[in-house]
Order: sequence, then C-alpha cells, then structure tokens
Amino acid sequence: MKKDRLEVLGYETATTGFLSVAYKKDSSTSEDFLEVDQEHQARFSLGALSNLAKGRQGGEDSAVTVAIRVRPLNSREQKMKAKTVVSVSGQETTVHPPHSQQKFSFSFDFSFWSCDAQDGCYASQETVYESLARPLLDKVFQGYNACLFAYGQTGSGKSYTMMGYNEDAGIIPRFCEEIFLKAAEVKEDNVTCHIEMSYFEVYNEKLHDLLTSDKEKNKTKKTALRIREHPELGPYVAGLSAYVVGSFADVQAWLELGNKQRATAATGMNDKSSRSHSVFAMVATQTKRETSDGESLTHTMRSHVNLVDLAGSERSSSAQTSGMRLKEGASINRSLMTLGKVISALSEATQSKKKPFIPYRDSLLTWLLKESLGGNSKTAMLATVSPAAVNLEETLSTLRYAKQARSIINVAKVNEDSNTRIIRELKAEIEKLRAFQRCSQGTDLMKFDSSLHEILSLKQKLLEQEKKLTEAQQEWKENLARAEQCKLEEARELQKASVSFKVDNRLPNLVNLNEDPQLSEMLLYIIKEGQTKVGRHMVDSEYGIQLTGALIADSHCLITNEQGTVTLTPAADAETYVNGDLVSEPVTLHHGDRVILGRDHYFRFNHPVEVQNGRRASEGPVACKEMLQDFEFAKNELVESQKQRIEAEIEEARLQAQQEMMQELQTARDLAQRELSAQRCLYEEQIRELQREMEDELSMKQELLSKEMEQKRHKHLGKLLLTEPSAQELEESQLRHHRFMEALQLEKEKLAQEMAQVQQARLSREEERKSAARQGTVP
Ligand code: ADP
Ligand code: MG
Repeated sequence: MKKDRLEVLGYETATTGFLSVAYKKDSSTSEDFLEVDQEHQARFSLGALSNLAKGRQGGEDSAVTVAIRVRPLNSREQKMKAKTVVSVSGQETTVHPPHSQQKFSFSFDFSFWSCDAQDGCYASQETVYESLARPLLDKVFQGYNACLFAYGQTGSGKSYTMMGYNEDAGIIPRFCEEIFLKAAEVKEDNVTCHIEMSYFEVYNEKLHDLLTSDKEKNKTKKTALRIREHPELGPYVAGLSAYVVGSFADVQAWLELGNKQRATAATGMNDKSSRSHSVFAMVATQTKRETSDGESLTHTMRSHVNLVDLAGSERSSSAQTSGMRLKEGASINRSLMTLGKVISALSEATQSKKKPFIPYRDSLLTWLLKESLGGNSKTAMLATVSPAAVNLEETLSTLRYAKQARSIINVAKVNEDSNTRIIRELKAEIEKLRAFQRCSQGTDLMKFDSSLHEILSLKQKLLEQEKKLTEAQQEWKENLARAEQCKLEEARELQKASVSFKVDNRLPNLVNLNEDPQLSEMLLYIIKEGQTKVGRHMVDSEYGIQLTGALIADSHCLITNEQGTVTLTPAADAETYVNGDLVSEPVTLHHGDRVILGRDHYFRFNHPVEVQNGRRASEGPVACKEMLQDFEFAKNELVESQKQRIEAEIEEARLQAQQEMMQELQTARDLAQRELSAQRCLYEEQIRELQREMEDELSMKQELLSKEMEQKRHKHLGKLLLTEPSAQELEESQLRHHRFMEALQLEKEKLAQEMAQVQQARLSREEERKSAARQGTVP
C-alpha cells in the first residue's frame, strides 16, 4: 500500500475548542479541523498531529468503504419472468429502467455480481468476505475499531451476506473463524488476544439482548436495555451481556442460541424480523508483553467490532423520497430513518468546513453506532439489491443511499489502553530523572533526594499497574468459565420449552417455518416415543412443547408416537391445521406435512424413518418435495384452504338460505291456501244461508202475493159482477170499432193503387232499356 507523505506545517486552537491543522501532502497544502479537547491539546506534538491529520485527511482506509451486491432472481421473480434491470461492470453498478433509454450509473468501492454462479464475474460469499470484511479484520489487529453494516430492502440478501445460510457461510461466521486463527498467529509474537461477544436486536426503538432470556417468573415480555454514554469510550448498552469466547465453536454456539431466541420472539409477530436490526458485537483485546530495561511492560489495544444486519430499507425510503417529515413513534422505523439523516449530514460535512449537527441521539441504533459513522472506526457498508424490474424503485433508492455513505470520512485511531500510555510516559519521566541524576550528582542533594523519591513512587505505580494486569488476566479466565456456565443455562432455558439443539436422525420432529428465511428451521422439537403434550408456555409447565402466542391454548394438542406412527389429536377450540385443513379429529402425520398451531406457529413435520423408506404413505417420493415445503408454501396452502372453506361455507349458507326461503314460501302458500279455502267455505255457507233466506222470503212473498191475488181476484170479480156495461155503451163501442175498421180498409186500398202505379212505371222503364239495347245504343 502506498504511504502518504505528510508534513504538518502548524496548528492553532480555535475558540470553539477545535484544533486547526495545516498540513502538506505531497505537493498540495491543505487545512483541516480536528476535534480535540483542551486537556489533550497540550500533549499533542506535531508528530501526533501528523498521525491525526493522516487519519483525517483520508487515505483510502478512513473513508467509509461502500459495496453493492446484486442477488439472484428469487423463485417468485423467476416465476413471473421478471426482467433483470441491474448490471455490473468493474466498480460500476448500472440500472436500466425498462421502456426507457435512460441509465443510472453509480460507482462504488466494490460492485458484486452474485446473480448467476456460472458467470465469470460471479461474486461468491468468499469473494465478498475477502474484499470487504478481511481488510476490517486486519485493522482490528492493528487496534482500530471496525464496523460493517448491511443495508437493503427485505429479501435483498442482507442476512445471506452477513450470516449466510447452511454451507454458504456469511461474513459473521467467516470473520469469527478467522479472528481466532489470527489470535493464534499473534500469540507467537507474545500477544494474547481475548474476545468478548454480544448479540442484540433493536426493534421498535427497544434494545433486546439475544444472549440472555428473562428467567424471572411470570415475565412474558423481554426487558429492554438502555444506552449510556461513557465519557471516554462513548455510547454503550448498560446491562448487555458480553461473553468471553475462547474459540469459534463458542461463537457458533452463542449465535445458534441467539438466533433461536430471535426466532422464538418473532413467532406470531407479523413482519417483526424485517423491521428489526440485529447487531453482532465483539471486543478484541490484545495484550503484548514486552521487556524493556529488564522491566516487564504490557501494551494493550482494544478494538470494538460491530457487524450489523439492518432492518428492511423499504420501511423508510418510501417516506424519505416523499420528503415528508414523519411523526415520531409512527410505525416507520425511527432508527433506519435517523441512520439516513446521519449519513446525509455526515456526507454534507465532508463538503463544507462547518461542523453540522449530526442527529446521532435521535435513535438507538445511530447513537450506538456513533463511533462507526463519522467517528473512530474503520467502516464498510454493504448495500444489497434485487436485479428484478419490480424492485427498480427500491434498488435505485438503495444505490443513492449507498452513494451518499461513500463520502463519509471517519477519523480512525489505534485504541491504546490508557495504561499503556501512562507506562510510556512514566518511562520517559524516569529516563529524564535518571539523566538529571547523572548530571547533577553531588551538586544539589535536596533535588536529588526528591528526584529519587519520585522515581521510587513511579516505580511503585508501575508495579501496581502490573499487578492489576495480572489480576485482569485471571479475570479473563474466570469470565470464560462463567460464560460457559451461562451458555449452558441459556440452552437449558430453551430446552425447557423443548427446543432441541441436536438433530436426532431417527426420531420424528417438528421444525419451525418463518417468513424470514434466517429464522426458519431454527427451532426443532423432537417427538419422542409416547405422548407429547403441546400447550402455552408457562412457568413450571410440564408440557413437552411450550409455545407462546394469543391463539395457543393452555392445552393445545396431543402428539403421540407409537412405534413410529405419529398422530396429532387437537383439543376442542384450539385451532390446528394440517396441510392447510382445520382438523378436529386425530390425524396421522407424514414426512413433509405442514402443521400450523394457533395460526402463527408454522412447522414442518419430519419423519426420518419415512425418508429412509423412501415413500410417504399418502403421497409420492419425499425428497423432491421437502425443498418446496417452506413458510411460503405452508402459508399459501393455508390461505388457499381457508379461501376454499370460506367459499364452501358461503355456498352452504346460500343453499341453506335458499332452502329455508323455499320452505317458508311453501308454508306461507299452504297457509294462504288453507285460509282461502276456509274463507271460501265460509262464503259458500253464507251464500247458502242467504239463498235459503231468500227462498224462504220468496216463498213467503209468493204465498202472500198469491193470497193477495186471490183476494184481489175475488174482489175484482165481485166488482165485475157489481158493474156490468150498459147497452148504449156497448153499441158505442161497436160503432167505434167499425169506423176504425173502415178507415183501415181505405188506407189499404190506397196503398194497393200506389203499388200498382209504381209497378207499372218500372215495367215501362225496363221496356225502354231493352228496345234501346236492341237498336245498339247504350243508354
Ligand atoms: P434479507 O435479509 O435482506 O431480508 P435474505 O438474506 O434473507 O434477505 O435473502 C432472501 C432470500 O434470498 C434467501 O432465501 C437467500 O437465500 C436468498 N439470497 C439472497 N442473496 C443471495 C445470494 N447472493 N445468492 C443466493 N441466494 C441469495
Ligand atoms: Mg434478513
């Protein structure tokens, strides 16, 4: 690596308490500001300033290293034949929006193409580790703090890169493995290296230790830890467990435990894991023993390492692009938003001489990472993106974010223990006094005595420091033993809820499925021969499998294993689904079956014996199916089955309603019919009654009438007999009759004459016409 030739020209203290340093690098002269408190200013020599200026002036190592990694298309994107819109060439990452001639190019320290393993430029887990994390590891052994954080949308490959899956180990395990290899290497140079580790997550602005569970009784929620600020060391988490680890296997065991805790806590909390940041922290302390002038001296360097897997960036970027100022406490991740603000403030700071305000304290995460961003740390950022066109907006937003981070410059320095510095100063002081002693011997006895006294007291101090160091060494050993004890206790705590640590390759088991692949298949529950009761996790519960969650009943179901035949019997009212179907009767489980308890706890049932036999009882070969039976598969299956069930229920309800309606209609019709016929009978009866009455009345009236007629006839007869016409009256009447008859006769004759005349006239007219026709004239 090329060394900068730096020459400090001078410095002066500004009223603000900052130190203004003028320096010359190669041929150009620059000026920069360094934040140094009053106490330290006095001690700085030009040499020290030169070192500081070097760090500040920014050789390639002090600027934040930024890398981009493009993951392969996932199965969903492949299924929908998503177009790849990202390409990589050297350090450049380019985005080509579809249906557009426009291109967006970004240059980074590294652009990793991990889309297709067949490509020549394919960046494997190892490539990424070697390029990005290995240099940080080297810096740790030089006494610097180091930080690497992964940023990107959910599903873009942050956890894959940081932690890795199965044999594709990511940065964290590789880093840990190598740190122990290096520690063994430096041991040969008389350097002992002690490593402590912590693992925690920040979710919803609360910090949870992943290596310690709450063992207090009746505690359902985990206690959140607080951040405090040490005047010299900066922010730290109060009460966070930090375990001494002696080997990579130790780290692996703790990581497994931490991830199991994470998986347990995330179950049933929708989307939780993608909204939480997980931080894997290490402190590496290197102690070098040296002998100088026959005296044993120790030189200690302490480096803090933070490896951070951030929450999914889509939670904040959409809000940021809209430029809206977001309310605090809203569902959007405050830590991620503040990280964005901090990065942009720091990137602005490099462009202006003014010291802008950096809002580190606005969120837990940025406060904790204060030293890693714009502070004393060698920092790298990895931004992960999807190549698919559907994620274009998120990809562009990630790339812009990363571009900004690239301009951040940190002031990293070697973290020497203050003891080392004191010792070095004491040694110089002793040297000075010795020299003084040599040249002033015999001249000033008083001065000589006091110098001798000072030397003795300084030597005493030195001895004390030595003693403290030896004690510290002892403490390390004790701490390691204590950590081992704690690890066993934590594992036992998880085992109480039946979470297994080793796979028994004979016994059937249930393995958890989670939306986040990092948390999937983390929890393993062995189904032993006999009965296994499943129920809510309670202190002192005897149940074989204990789960938490609102929909888990105190006694949820019973699993029996009788000579390899595993049967699940659900309790009444406790929701249990097998392969998407709600079950109420005992069911026999087969390898690969999906079991969902209380809607949130997803499992896959594994039956090693069935696998050995090569077949499931109910379906085809097992091996090919296993891979597909992940969380998404189980969830889709449940949704599909629920949809079908709801549709069937709706159809049933519709049919029933229809049937009921028909029945009601029939009943109403029958009733109306009955009412109608009753009414008709009534009317008929009434009519008959009326008829009878009428007939009676008629006959009565007829009787009366005939009686009356009889009476009248009698009366008339009597009257007739009494009034007979006179002869004159008869004669007059006959005469009138006669005259009338004569008049009628006359009239008749007259009419006959008229008729004869008319007849005659017609005949003559007929005659005329005929003769005319004969003469050929047409009338
Ligand atoms: P994140 O942590 O960003 O939400 P993950 O790291 O869990 O996303 O990745 C989501 C899925 O994509 C996982 O199944 C993972 O195996 C796969 N994946 C991500 N990056 C890569 C890669 N570089 N190569 C192969 N598979 C990857
Ligand atoms: Mg993840």
